Amino acid sequence: RAKIKGKNSFCFFNKDLYEKNMKRLSIEEDLNKAIKKNEFFLVYQPKINIKSNKVEGFEALIRWNHPSKGIIPPMEFIPIAEQTGLIREIDFWVMEEVFTQLKSWEKKGIDMGVISLNISPNQLKDTKIINRVKKLIKEIYIDINKIQIEITENMFIESFENAKDIVLKLKELGFKISLDDFGKGYSSLNYLKWLPIDVLKIDKSFVDGIHNDEYELIDLIISLAHRLKLEIVAEGVEYYDQYEYLKNNKCDVIQGYYIAKPLSIEDAEKFIVNFTNVD
Ligand code: C2E
Ligand code: MG
Ligand code: MG
Ligand code: MG
Repeated sequence: RAKIKGKNSFCFFNKDLYEKNMKRLSIEEDLNKAIKKNEFFLVYQPKINIKSNKVEGFEALIRWNHPSKGIIPPMEFIPIAEQTGLIREIDFWVMEEVFTQLKSWEKKGIDMGVISLNISPNQLKDTKIINRVKKLIKEIYIDINKIQIEITENMFIESFENAKDIVLKLKELGFKISLDDFGKGYSSLNYLKWLPIDVLKIDKSFVDGIHNDEYELIDLIISLAHRLKLEIVAEGVEYYDQYEYLKNNKCDVIQGYYIAKPLSIEDAEKFIVNFTNVD
């Protein structure tokens, strides 16, 4: 009996796996065409400076409007794109889109603050990206200081020297550099010492901690950032108690559903006009 049951569940597992693979294959195929078909778009989530009570800027986050599946979040296609190498094209598309958007805001006379964008670890393996970025800077003339690049610690696992070199070059071009999801992965204090980082983004898990009365690590990260003269951003702020704690404990900037979800371009423009203060 046990044997039959075992056999059945084995078949069941295989069917799941099969379906998962098929789903993945079809996503992979569609993903290849998504840039050309113009199916990606960006949403912008505000960041608020809780010291000055001003909008610091926005983080650009990618979405995929799939022709039959609807809006697909990045966690469902970025990992696939990273494995197939398509991520390079996607991340470059994002950068180009952000440049274009900034230019258009500039023309309209709207100051949206600093716009950040995420780049995947794979991107930092290849120095070719630097030449592409330089070309883009020549094509679309904007204030590079207004763009922040969010990198993650995962970038440095494979080859620290190589990744460091690329980050240094991006910094030289004028971008601000932000270390995203800090504390989530294999954080090394060496990264903070050797990389030209401007901003530290505390991972959401530590912000969640505040809600559960866990303060040790978040306190430590905030004071570490201040000692190193880095701006500190808390991501994933959802509740008033988190905001209040972060404000009382000298965090600089917050981002999260407590303020706003990622917004369409139109809503982001409305947000900047209507924002008065956090409370
Ligand atoms: P991330 O860069 O750490 O972005 C923060 C994620 O947390 C975003 O999810 C955002 O919508 C979500 N979030 C913000 N506030 C809250 C909150 O209060 N509560 C909760 N539960 N979530 C919140 P999203 O947009 O689904 O992006 C997920 C991840 O996908 C990003 O994490 C980033 O690693 C990656 N990603 C997004 N856009 C891009 C992109 O253009 N290029 C690359 N390479 N990766 C991207
Ligand atoms: Mg990010
Ligand atoms: Mg993050
Ligand atoms: Mg995160």
